[in-house]
Amino acid sequence: MIPPGETIGILGGGQLGRMLAMAAAQLGYRCHVYAPEADSIAAEVCGGFTCAGWYDTDALARFARDCAVITYEFENVPVPPLAALSEVAVLPHPRALETAQDRLLEKRFAEELGGIPANYAAVDTSGDLHAAAHRIGTPGILKTRRDGYDGKGQWRIADPAAALALELPAKPLIYEALVDFSAEFSVILVRGGDGDVRFWDSPENVHKGGILSRSAVPASKHVAAQVPAARELARNAAEALDYVGVLTLEFFATARGPVFNEMAPRVHNSGHWTIEGAVTSQFENHVRAICGLPLGDTALAAKGVEMRNVIGDTVEDWPEILSDPANHLHLYGKAAARPGRKMGHVTRLSL
Ligand code: AMP
Repeated sequence: MIPPGETIGILGGGQLGRMLAMAAAQLGYRCHVYAPEADSIAAEVCGGFTCAGWYDTDALARFARDCAVITYEFENVPVPPLAALSEVAVLPHPRALETAQDRLLEKRFAEELGGIPANYAAVDTSGDLHAAAHRIGTPGILKTRRDGYDGKGQWRIADPAAALALELPAKPLIYEALVDFSAEFSVILVRGGDGDVRFWDSPENVHKGGILSRSAVPASKHVAAQVPAARELARNAAEALDYVGVLTLEFFATARGPVFNEMAPRVHNSGHWTIEGAVTSQFENHVRAICGLPLGDTALAAKGVEMRNVIGDTVEDWPEILSDPANHLHLYGKAAARPGRKMGHVTRLSL
């Protein structure tokens, strides 16, 4: 067990790290952020900050010497340099990062555990894409296997002619059938080092332009009926990875049951509602899990909860959002409100 007063290292300097550090501070921990960008919004709320590149193994080793345990809030942290952290436990184990960083490995992993992803094919050349579009059918989505987030690195392929016309980026890609879904939802769980697994209520999620716009619990009946099967896959994934911390799996609810979309080995945007809406938030339980503390209750703290992201220049609406006393506004302190950038979120409870 890592007792309060010790230092938790966080790889990545964004809003997830900021909210993790705030939960850690509540439990009496100090946090040290490691991030390549100087204007880290997580570092602003932390006692320690190392601003260095992901491949700077000397800086990583120095960072590790200040930490009792290290976690990550950014999914695309390169895994090989993490060997420089060998003296300190990195939780969740970086094997979860390795799997989740590559859409092809992630889908195969889910399939091995009994999950059903959309039909897919690896694509490296135009010939592969043409063959995939022919075999799987159109419409479909071409995605980069690595480094994609918030709908970035994705191309809709409407028909075979569009597949032929597309100039492919020189990166490993994956082609997926476009899933005919009625809703999207996620499974968010926390697993302790002793194997204790707890699930939060599954939120129903709405994405706009590939970016999460809204998460709400309880989910509709149709989604709720698919949650047990989705949870089973998530539990199997956590066990297969001997996972410690918060793990999120995203699904499409379809007429043939839950279709696995992707896995995030970290706290997740669709779990931000847990800060006010659950007895214990995803951030606090992640800290509890990686520090070996008993896990907190994941039950709902209200009849219903809705979280909406504050994206781009809608952040300027903050006075209006605050004018409703029922709104819980979280702003991440980002300087520039670029289009599509997550600037904050608003949570509302139905009591
Ligand atoms: P992703 O980055 O893969 O999570 O994709 C972001 C969002 O794009 C998803 O949450 C869906 O709304 C949409 N999307 C991604 N892949 C598919 C798919 N195969 N079929 C339908 N919609 C998709």
